Amino acid sequence: MRLNALPRLLCRLTGCNRSSPGAVHYSKTTSSSRRCFSSSSSVVDLRSDTVTAPSRPMLEAALTAPTGDDVMGEDPTVIQLQEYMADLAGKEAGLYVPTGTMANLVSIMAHCHTRAGEIIIGANSHISLWEAGNAASLAGVHTRQLPETPDGVLRHDDIRDAFRLDTDDHCAKTALICLENTHNMLGGAVLNPDDIHATGKLAHDELGIQLHIDGARIFNAVVASQQSLQNICQHVDSVSICLSKGLGAPLGSVLVGDKEFIRLAKRARKRCGGGMRQAGVVAAMGLYAVQNNVERLEQDHIRAKRLGAELHSNGFFLPRNGQVDTNLIFFGLPPDSKVSREELIPRLLKEYGIKLSGGYSRGGELFRLCTHMDLNDEGVDRAAEAIVSLCCGRP
Ligand SMILES: *Cc1c(COP(=O)(O)O)cnc(C)c1O
Repeated sequence: MRLNALPRLLCRLTGCNRSSPGAVHYSKTTSSSRRCFSSSSSVVDLRSDTVTAPSRPMLEAALTAPTGDDVMGEDPTVIQLQEYMADLAGKEAGLYVPTGTMANLVSIMAHCHTRAGEIIIGANSHISLWEAGNAASLAGVHTRQLPETPDGVLRHDDIRDAFRLDTDDHCAKTALICLENTHNMLGGAVLNPDDIHATGKLAHDELGIQLHIDGARIFNAVVASQQSLQNICQHVDSVSICLSKGLGAPLGSVLVGDKEFIRLAKRARKRCGGGMRQAGVVAAMGLYAVQNNVERLEQDHIRAKRLGAELHSNGFFLPRNGQVDTNLIFFGLPPDSKVSREELIPRLLKEYGIKLSGGYSRGGELFRLCTHMDLNDEGVDRAAEAIVSLCCGRP
């Protein structure tokens, strides 16, 4: 590529000709109740922390990354990322995969590689709800789904009741317990590290099985609990970690665990079609993300708490009595809301340029907001104002 074409390419890739991420151009001049958001203004997108665009320095990291054929194990950047993540988690090895869904799937395949396996898992976990039933359809693994406590863990007596050996041919042998941290459907709840340790000990010392954590947002838990990743994971056998959620990489997850587990996971990745060649180009962006964008998650948490408090104090329903641990907020409309459940999303977009997602639990009545690095204080405040004024009819 010609060097002088680089800035333009970077601009195209990052969309940096918008003035700044999440910048506010919304004009408050309209006073009619049917205001209309002008299309020249920027949209504030609170649907997910996956909507972020790769930043310029992140793209520059990709441009200078050394690469090789990773199927042959020769991509230095992928190797560096895998080792970096394994070290952070205090594990022996890592495996780079395209998505969090695939990280969980190959983890389950590796833990249950002898087949006829069963895993004990939260009924509201991402693996149970949002991964297309792949544990059953692709891994051939049966999921035993237990209700989580409000803190996002599984009760030990429930685990003991669900646990089964293969001495009885009626039973699929239990191989694994899965937890999720932070817990998405519980509103970004941070698991208490002591609860994770206790579950790890139950798995290892009493039941002779393994513990996996779906840690798509585990760095949010690291920042919120002020504990190291290594400490959180000390009694955990494997962790899947997304680089493309709050950390801002365009794609990629890393699965970490011991060497033999990663060897089995790598074979499972191949069976899933996922060996990549010069993957260092994208792994470099993941490495940049994890080396630069962890501490700033605190910002996302502060903004989410502010947003949650604003809704809660205006009569919106918030699970856990309004407690917001990290960057996710679920909410239901106040009983006397001026807009219906069906109207909220289209009207927020059309009239205020605010995007959020809906249709979650309690009969589909909950909406979700998610803060991330491409937002700023003004955008978040504008979202809170818009939701409150639409639903509560205040100016
Ligand atoms: C998003 C998410 C995943 C899946 O990650 P993708 O990269 O979207 O496949 C897994 N677990 C949890 C808890 C998630 O939030």
